[in-house]
Amino acid sequence: MPFLQLAGGQSRVLEILSEEAKVQFQHWIQGVGFECGGDKCPFCAQGARKNARFVMQVRSQGEDLTWLMGKRVYTMLTFISAARPSFKGLVVKLSRIGEGKDTQWLVEEVKASEAQAVPVASVPAPTSTVVVSEAVSQALVEIAQMEKLRGSLTGDALAGLDATIKALKDKAAADMVKLGLGQGEEIPF
Ligand SMILES: [Zn+2]
Repeated sequence: MPFLQLAGGQSRVLEILSEEAKVQFQHWIQGVGFECGGDKCPFCAQGARKNARFVMQVRSQGEDLTWLMGKRVYTMLTFISAARPSFKGLVVKLSRIGEGKDTQWLVEEVKASEAQAVPVASVPAPTSTVVVSEAVSQALVEIAQMEKLRGSLTGDALAGLDATIKALKDKAAADMVKLGLGQGEEIPF
């Protein structure tokens, strides 16, 4: 299946076909990506860092494609789909802003009925908008990890965790406003 690719300034409407993402691990050795070999991986044995990437099947303009994404975009999708039983059937508009190191990904939810009823170019205003920036998305990952810990803490420890979560949320919200987000838009937490 061909891979989804976008150049800077392009966007596409995608219907997610997968119930959930598959996770692959990759090592970057001098600019070349190698699939992690798991238990017997020679790169792991040498202590090489590995990065997770997430794989989903999508349909776009009648074409079935494989979508590879990093942790940041995947985290945004989990926020957008939080109220759904799975990713399957979720329709999003994915936009790429910039190239290379300056790349930012914009993920907007689109109602499935609207996506099918109108041409891609005139898809109605999104119901939620999230721009992935390095600092903000890192904070979102940390917040999600901390919120998982809440159930196992009580008393002062829980109060301390909640204070930390609140500080992270406030900082992420302030960062989003700096990026021109959050004004009149829903912040994803
Ligand atoms: Zn490995």
